[in-house]
Amino acid sequence: MSSVSALTFQEARELVVRTVQSSGFVPPREDAELAGSFSHVMAENIVADRNYPPVARSIRDGYALRAEDLPGELQVIGEVRAGEVSGLTVGPGQAIEIMTGAPVPTGADAIVMVEHSLRQADRVRIDRTQKAGDFINPAGAEVLRGKIVVSQGQRIDFAQIAMLASVGCTRVPVYCQPAVAILSTGDEVIDIAAKPEDHQVRNSNAWGLAAQVMRAGGRPVVLGVARDEYEHTRQLIEQGLDADLLLLSGGVSAGKYDLVEQVLGDLGAEFFFTRILIQPGQPLVFGRVRGKFFFGLPGNPASTMVTFEVFARAALELLSGRSEPDLRIAFARLTREFKHKTGLTRFLPARLSPSSGELTPIGWAGSSDIAALARSNCFLLADADRESWQAGELIAVLIP
Ligand code: AMP
Ligand code: MG
Repeated sequence: MSSVSALTFQEARELVVRTVQSSGFVPPREDAELAGSFSHVMAENIVADRNYPPVARSIRDGYALRAEDLPGELQVIGEVRAGEVSGLTVGPGQAIEIMTGAPVPTGADAIVMVEHSLRQADRVRIDRTQKAGDFINPAGAEVLRGKIVVSQGQRIDFAQIAMLASVGCTRVPVYCQPAVAILSTGDEVIDIAAKPEDHQVRNSNAWGLAAQVMRAGGRPVVLGVARDEYEHTRQLIEQGLDADLLLLSGGVSAGKYDLVEQVLGDLGAEFFFTRILIQPGQPLVFGRVRGKFFFGLPGNPASTMVTFEVFARAALELLSGRSEPDLRIAFARLTREFKHKTGLTRFLPARLSPSSGELTPIGWAGSSDIAALARSNCFLLADADRESWQAGELIAVLIP
């Protein structure tokens, strides 16, 4: 394909999302234990079993009283703790000592924080005013009974686990996680346990990709390394097509021994694109063969990582049942000037400072520099049609 017809980053990503969505793939379902549902995708909507909170509750330690009695000195007629219901009614000039989370007693319409009270025996003096409703969470303020609290197609993370636990969902209807075959290619690529000669590299991509797949909610199936030889590559690709998604690393550039596209073509593959306007990762291939989607990710480690995060991950998230794939793009201030050549969208290793939120590009020796990637915590996202950014300017960041 010529560079003229290559897709931009946005066009290519939209094409991936649209193509996978329109395939109509629905993953099989299973019931998971609550803890085991982490990182899966909900296969059903879960609704609130009651109002949250079910009764009006105090959100402070203090005194439950009638706002109209303030300021004033009130008689303390009792106490109510979290986990108790007070049988008492707060009348004019009265207050009940109350703890955070306790139901607001009848008659009271406001809470005064204990810090704003002066207690002496059964009297309490409060010198301020308070509006009705202050520090009270009314019944149903968070969610009403029967309303959806976790939606079908939503990925289960810690907050969803807490929500499911809260409504008593101990068996969670989830989609089965898709199996993702990972196939490395290249005569120079050897097993990570072996000792490489100077002309060899360990199969780091398979391990990095497996971690990326797990983070994205997939089940990695690592197939080893295909030699740059037609029959061996074909045999392993066919094996990879047993999975729900096939990821290949390497063998998609213009080199004489880049056989991946040839093999896939012979297997009857449909190619949606074979090159995109990004760097690293220009020779990215996306297609479908025998009903399975595949990505031919360029083998340079940075290219592999970036193209997975931006494109393959979207496909995987949709195949795992998610209604919408994630792409976390934020903006951060640069600590120094940044320049690049226009025409390609670049994703470069960078560090977002946890203290200042500022962004520093990481110096690197190109897309084989795994050490630079391992020092980074995000990717600076340089727009294809803008050449330079000054120190202090905002620039886009892809947060993986
Ligand atoms: P390729 O995309 O096959 O042309 O490979 C590009 C570069 O990435 C080469 O320098 C390879 O050595 C390197 N590479 C390819 N596959 C892997 C892998 N599985 N792990 C680490 N590096 C790789
Ligand atoms: Mg190769």
